[in-house]
Amino acid sequence: MNKEFFEKIEQAAGRDNVKYNEPMSAHTTFKTGGPAKVLITPKDEMTIKEIIRICQENDEAYYIIGKGSNLLVSDDGIDGVIIKLYRTMDDVVFHKNSMEMATADLEDKELAKVSEVTKVKVSAGAGIMLSKLAKELLDRELKGFEFASGIPGTLGGAITMNAGAYGGQMADVVEKVYAIDEQGNEYELSNEEMNFGYRHSLIMDKNLIVTKVDMKFEVGEYNEIKAKMDEFNGLRREKQPLEYPSAGSTFKRPEGYFAGKLIMDAGLAGYRAGGVCVSPKHCGFVVNDNNGTSADVMQVMKHVDEVVFEKFGVHLEPEIRIIGEW
Ligand SMILES: Cc1cc2nc3c(=O)[nH]c(=O)nc-3n(C[C@H](O)[C@H](O)[C@H](O)COP(=O)(O)OP(=O)(O)OC[C@H]3O[C@@H](n4cnc5c(N)ncnc54)[C@H](O)[C@@H]3O)c2cc1C
Repeated sequence: MNKEFFEKIEQAAGRDNVKYNEPMSAHTTFKTGGPAKVLITPKDEMTIKEIIRICQENDEAYYIIGKGSNLLVSDDGIDGVIIKLYRTMDDVVFHKNSMEMATADLEDKELAKVSEVTKVKVSAGAGIMLSKLAKELLDRELKGFEFASGIPGTLGGAITMNAGAYGGQMADVVEKVYAIDEQGNEYELSNEEMNFGYRHSLIMDKNLIVTKVDMKFEVGEYNEIKAKMDEFNGLRREKQPLEYPSAGSTFKRPEGYFAGKLIMDAGLAGYRAGGVCVSPKHCGFVVNDNNGTSADVMQVMKHVDEVVFEKFGVHLEPEIRIIGEW
């Protein structure tokens, strides 16, 4: 990276939206991670495209993040550009004229005729927090997003991860995803094209950037939607170690098992490396309870995987995304 590169980036994004040698511990919910050479908060899609173009031209790597709530960044930091879509590109549009019968969407026409469900189209920018979007939907009495209200990430991150909880997942509400690729080409991807799976989507496979999402929600009743959100968030507070920095469930659920239970049964509750440990409250969470580092997190994860494999013959695959040099 040279002066000319920095000048071009500042010109494209605006000086106030560019930070240098920015500690990633300030941008991850683990509160760990070394400095990113450059961190940019772009104000719109055009800016993202321009930044990508400048990075490609200068052979510089870039990486897109949202709230950093599913991210482990190396203590050595990021030798490249972080594009952060959080508190930017977070508009929500409720399509007033899009009230339509959902019968056409349902396979069982007879059932649809009976239920006569009404759905409303909602478009939102990738940078909006799920909690904020959930609140806006609640205010308009639209149901179907309660599951996501307590997931502490952005819409873009949640789409990428196909985030889910309490029986719901992003794939259930998505109609269309707007994205751009490494060449700046634009895509409009249908739900089917998104190839959603368990904590997986096409966005990861193709290294795309989500800019906007169209979703559909049924009309519901305020008190019922609110009660469901309160119930789910109450369960989170009760079961999860929300008092400490973490990235949520550290590992994916292995087929036929629960990662947290395997870890607990392996006797690893409270297992510690440096300032990081397996949460005794919920063994599926690795928590940074004492100013730990990303290396501590990695060490705990490695040990947990080894011991669980030794005892139960099951490997634990990280759910969190790991970036930087290790
Ligand atoms: C306390 C706690 C509880 C959690 N509970 C849940 C839960 O119940 N269910 C669940 O699924 N997850 C949960 N998580 C994990 C996390 O909140 C979700 O995965 C969330 O969707 C990540 O969003 P983010 O904006 O923080 O993404 P980040 O962590 O910033 O990024 C995650 C991945 O998405 C990519 N990404 C982010 N934004 C974009 C974009 N606009 N375009 C393309 N790629 C993008 C990144 O490159 C990265 O690969 C929890 C985390 C915490 C800390």
